[in-house]
Amino acid sequence: MATVEFLHIHKSYPDGTRALNDLNLKVAEGEMMVLVGPSGCGKSTSLRLLAGLEPVSGGELLIDGECVNERPPQHRDIAMVFQNYALYPHMTVRRNLAFPLQMLKMTKAEIAKRVEETAQLLGLAELLERRPRQLSGGQRQRVAMGRAMVRQPQVFLMDEPLSNLDAKLRTQIRAEIADLQKRLRITTIYVTHDQVEAMTLGDRIAVLNAGRLQQVGPPQELYEQPANAFVAAFLGNPGMNIFAARLSRNSGMLQLESDGWRIPIEQLLASKPGLEEYLEHPILVGLRPEAFSPEVTPAYPAIVVSIESLGHERLLYFRPAATTPSTAQKTLVARLSCTQAEAVGQNIRLGFKPEQLYFFTGEGEVIA
Ligand code: ADP
Repeated sequence: MATVEFLHIHKSYPDGTRALNDLNLKVAEGEMMVLVGPSGCGKSTSLRLLAGLEPVSGGELLIDGECVNERPPQHRDIAMVFQNYALYPHMTVRRNLAFPLQMLKMTKAEIAKRVEETAQLLGLAELLERRPRQLSGGQRQRVAMGRAMVRQPQVFLMDEPLSNLDAKLRTQIRAEIADLQKRLRITTIYVTHDQVEAMTLGDRIAVLNAGRLQQVGPPQELYEQPANAFVAAFLGNPGMNIFAARLSRNSGMLQLESDGWRIPIEQLLASKPGLEEYLEHPILVGLRPEAFSPEVTPAYPAIVVSIESLGHERLLYFRPAATTPSTAQKTLVARLSCTQAEAVGQNIRLGFKPEQLYFFTGEGEVIA
């Protein structure tokens, strides 16, 4: 087991693409760190730099406190699992697992022992004599993991290892990976663009956008206390509604104005005195889809745009009903139970508790 640290890491590709900008991230010994963010944000690049498949353009990569910038890949003691895992089709599972150890010139007895242990750990013991084409997708993925694990590396890197599997299998293997990582406690960096995967797998998650680290912390902390509007909108399913608003005073009482909604928030000042600074400034406001309820008062008028029924709940897309309808008006989404049935175009009322509002500057930084 080892610690891993990205220290002021920069990466520009030869064609000028800036993939990473001053990445600072420390992964603790035995930790499962998930790197999450939209496609192109620099997740794979981070792994490729750490594995030594690409040189860094600036900064230091530390493994156990030692700079490994100049260390060749085979001496970094890292194993990587990719989404396009390639097993040798003509070899049995046993030989697929043994192959990386033969490369290390281990003794036959040691190889046999390691292969048996790994197969036991991954539930592959019954499948050792089969060839890849005789395995299911999930079993193949497990062999690919086994081939990375059999070397007993200090650090595990996983780059979207589940993206080729169907939804059901993905959930199952995700649970298996989580369980395995908890048992082995090998320091792991796991890359995904899927925030559900990140929330369920990570001890901590690091959210990246456009080559910059946005926030790092335990999943629940990031969900409840996002540092900015990007993290707020990225996490959650669907993510947080973010819309433009303005703070003003009405008969001396603080209120929030947005698309015809006037939301009294005087009582929030006690816990958020910083809001006063933004009076009459354009700000961004956030509400989680689960914050809305038809039962909570005060409720605000809205028009139903579309409905997605998910069986146990519904996603209701709506526009705040404005006194002066505007084309720029944003569609928001509420996550509601299935007890009521609205129709598209219907006028409804939705309430939320003012404490559930999030406030961001016009640039998207959270207002404390
Ligand atoms: P992610 O894994 O988050 O999808 P990547 O790390 O693959 O993102 O890519 C980050 C950025 O670097 C993207 O803009 C991508 O197009 C660019 N990029 C990745 N690999 C190369 C490369 N070999 N040459 C030039 N640009 C690249």
